[in-house]
Amino acid sequence: MDAPSIASSRPTVPTGRYAPSPTGRMHLGNLFSALMSWLSVKSRGGRWILRIEDLDPQRSKPEFSRLIEDDLNWLGLDWDEGGMADRGPHGPYSQSLRGEIYAEYLARLDATGYTYPCTCTRADIMATQAPHQSDGRVIYGGRCRPATMPRPASERNNNAGVNTATRYSTRLYVPDEEIEFTDKVYGHRSVNLTRECGDFILRRADGAWAYQLAVVVDDALMGVNEVVRGSDLLLSTAQQMYLYRLLGLPAPDFAHVPLICNSEGRRLSKRDMSLNMSELRKGMSAREIIGTLAHIGGLINEPAPCEARELLGLFDWKKIPSTETICL
Ligand code: GLU
Ligand code: ZN
Repeated sequence: MDAPSIASSRPTVPTGRYAPSPTGRMHLGNLFSALMSWLSVKSRGGRWILRIEDLDPQRSKPEFSRLIEDDLNWLGLDWDEGGMADRGPHGPYSQSLRGEIYAEYLARLDATGYTYPCTCTRADIMATQAPHQSDGRVIYGGRCRPATMPRPASERNNNAGVNTATRYSTRLYVPDEEIEFTDKVYGHRSVNLTRECGDFILRRADGAWAYQLAVVVDDALMGVNEVVRGSDLLLSTAQQMYLYRLLGLPAPDFAHVPLICNSEGRRLSKRDMSLNMSELRKGMSAREIIGTLAHIGGLINEPAPCEARELLGLFDWKKIPSTETICL
C-alpha cells in the first residue's frame, strides 16, 4: 500500500487566516482583506486563524499586535486559533517564535541544490539589476548564482566560494518559466519569476527569515487552504507556488482583493493615518465600518450599517470587484 501523501492529509474544513504585520494600526485596506477572509471561511462553516507576522524585528511591536486584536474583536471578527494567546494546536502563532521550523524547511530547500549564498550589498544589486521597474521593485540579476543549477551535492551546505567570515543571504534559484495559478478574484495568472523578481531571498544576511519562506511553511503547517490578501501580493503568490512545488507541500487556494485608495487615489498605507482604526473608531461605529467594507466588496448596494455575521449569507467571491484598486 502507498504511504499517505501530504496532499491527502489536507484538511477539508475550510481554513483561512489573517496574517497582519504588527507594524502599525490597521487601515481600511487591511480590514477589507480580513473581513473577506473571515466571511469566506465562516460562510462555509470553516475556521479562521490569526497569525502575527512579526518577522521584521525592527518594525514589529507587540503593542500593535494588541491593537490589531482589539480592533478585530471590536468589529466582531473572531478567530478560532492563534493570536497573542497562542490558542490552538499549531503554535506558536507569532512568526518571530518559529525560527527553528523555518530552519528545517530551509535545509530541505538546500537539499534540492537550488539555494545559494549571496554576498551582494544593496549597491551591488542596484548596479547589476535589469532596467528599472516602474514600481520600484528590484530584480536580482543573478550575480552570485553558481554556474550550474542545481548545485552539485558536493557544494551544498559548505557554501563553496564564500568566506565563512562574510555574512551572506540565502537565495533561491528561479526557473525561466511561467508559474500559473488561478485566483478566486483575478482569475488565471501566469508569472515568469526570472523576469518579475529573479532569484529571491529565503534568509537575509542578518539572519531574518524572508516572508516568502515563512508564509508558505506556516500556511502549510497550519492547514490553511484559502489565503486572502491584497492584490499587491499577486507576484508573491507565484514565488510561493514555486516554493510549495519544491517542498512538495499542497498549495492553498488564493483570493486577492483590491487595494483601497484614499480620495486622492493614493493606496492606503499604515503610515498615512487618515483611514486607520484609531481615526475611524473616533467617528464610526463597528457596524458602520463593516457596512462600508461590505459595500466596497459589492456585497450590499448601500453602505448600510451591519454586523459581520449578517453578511455570511451574502458572501460570494463573484461579487468582489477584480480591479486592482478601489478608490473611496
Ligand atoms: N502581512 C501581510 C500584510 O499585512 C500579509 C501577508 C499575507 O497575507 O500573506 O499585508
Ligand atoms: Zn549576490
